Amino acid sequence: MTHVDGPIWIAGGARSGCAAATLLKRHGYDVFLSDAGTLSQDSRDALKKARIPFEEGAHSTDRFLAEASALVVSPALLLSKGLPFAAKSAGIPVFGEIEVGCWFLQGHETIIGITGTNGKSTTTAYTAQALERGGRAAVACGNIGLPFCEAVAAGYDHFALELSSYQLETTSSLPLDVGVLLNLQHDHLLRYETMSEYLKAKWRLLLLVKDSGLCMVDEPVLEEGLALGLSLPRAKVMVLSGGSKDGAIMRALRNARGGGSSSGKRALPWAAALERARTLPVSLYHDLRRLAPSVTLGTNLGHAWVERTKQNGLRATWTSASGSSSREITVREPVLPGFHNATNILAATVACAAVGVNAADLAAQWDRQTSQYAHLPHRLEFVLRAESIVTLQTRTEGQGDMVPVPAATKRVSVVNDSKATNVESTLVALRSFERDKTGKGGVRLLVGGEPKGESFLPLVPFHQAPVVKFYPFGKAAHLVADDLSNLAHQNGLAPSSATLEEAADRAAADAQEGDVILLSPACASFDAYRNFEHRGEMFKAWALSKRAPKAVPT
Ligand code: ADP
Repeated sequence: MTHVDGPIWIAGGARSGCAAATLLKRHGYDVFLSDAGTLSQDSRDALKKARIPFEEGAHSTDRFLAEASALVVSPALLLSKGLPFAAKSAGIPVFGEIEVGCWFLQGHETIIGITGTNGKSTTTAYTAQALERGGRAAVACGNIGLPFCEAVAAGYDHFALELSSYQLETTSSLPLDVGVLLNLQHDHLLRYETMSEYLKAKWRLLLLVKDSGLCMVDEPVLEEGLALGLSLPRAKVMVLSGGSKDGAIMRALRNARGGGSSSGKRALPWAAALERARTLPVSLYHDLRRLAPSVTLGTNLGHAWVERTKQNGLRATWTSASGSSSREITVREPVLPGFHNATNILAATVACAAVGVNAADLAAQWDRQTSQYAHLPHRLEFVLRAESIVTLQTRTEGQGDMVPVPAATKRVSVVNDSKATNVESTLVALRSFERDKTGKGGVRLLVGGEPKGESFLPLVPFHQAPVVKFYPFGKAAHLVADDLSNLAHQNGLAPSSATLEEAADRAAADAQEGDVILLSPACASFDAYRNFEHRGEMFKAWALSKRAPKAVPT
């Protein structure tokens, strides 16, 4: 519970702002919501129903300074501007919506927090569904969509909580049982001036983990954090090293434990960093307590990795800090393609195992044959999996009229990765597909939309493996075609299409039995759609309209 006494203002009236206001009001707080823009009708209705007063169009800053005891900020607002800045200058405490949710926890809840640049939503959805499979009343919430305050109000006791760096900046008392820091990549630097500022915001997740809990950190991120002198909590740390058993930290650690070669006797590069790791990390408004002044990493560090088995399955292994106990699960046919998803599965597996879900349930959940996994839309989502589609050809009839007639049906897969709004995400998608030995399974890539100023040249090496042909579309079509122009004479580049549907029709007409038609556009969607979800839905509708009618039994 909070010590705030007096009116609480909420800045920003989208879904999470309204959820925080409603939860506070329900617990008897005097709340007022202020939005400098226009509220949606849903927000207005929710506020009126909860009898919460509000203003929109501008903030009444003078009134705020005169009466507010605290400010709850939307993660979309910059802390250096507007009401948050005014609050900070006047010494009025600032909290985020996640922090507000924490005030009303009962104390028995299990919370797994997940952050990273990529894979947050997928891992959060995996984790919530695996918890459910293990018999827990679990919910996926936070940045993934359902505000934490709504999930707390609904009384769940297991939370898979996706956290953006913006949300982490204003959260300081979230009692995490497990914290997962998946990765850190160089996009998303709009809000942060430097990579280290971005890392510090993400690192806060680890410092929120309870002493009895578990931190899971991508190995390169851990190295970078230690090099910056950031502290670790007292909780156990599990190093996630993706596909490798031999990251730098783990190698150094094995050597230090005496299991390695002569290099074990040398001073370890990160040991000095660990010595320095007494500095508190940047904390925008609150000191984070529970920080260990120093951590004996060697006795605190476990290790988790994932590898492919011979038959295209996966094996996830994790070992305890002492290295004395090791657990693993094997999955014959993973529910989602790509090694990036294998990493997400690994993180979700170890997180769920740490809170007591049994390994057999976890293995069953990741295997396509036994999984009950409900796929997140627009992320490598199979709309059709090796299903027959009908493509149209035209025939000239009568007075020379062109009449469309169905051509032969063929079995193809159609995959919707509309969430891939930059080139890097499209590369991740392309690495997830392989052509089989007969050359089947070639990808016909639909690429284009609203350009973001990125070069499309990184797509070129994927020609042939796995991409048989690129189909540029939309506003970026000519830019894609320019960058990939060398592929035209190898029949690797289709003519530009004005719309996604036109490009998809071309790909369907060209497709061979077993091909994959993949929308992974590497561009934003705003040239023709409201957002990437809208684009994905339209593409799914296109695919379903091409599905060959099932033969009616006679
Ligand atoms: P987020 O919620 O962090 O934006 P998503 O789970 O929605 O992440 O995935 C978005 C995209 O990020 C995916 O379509 C894929 O291209 C890429 N991605 C997913 N998981 C990973 C990962 N572990 N490492 C690198 N890229 C990933």
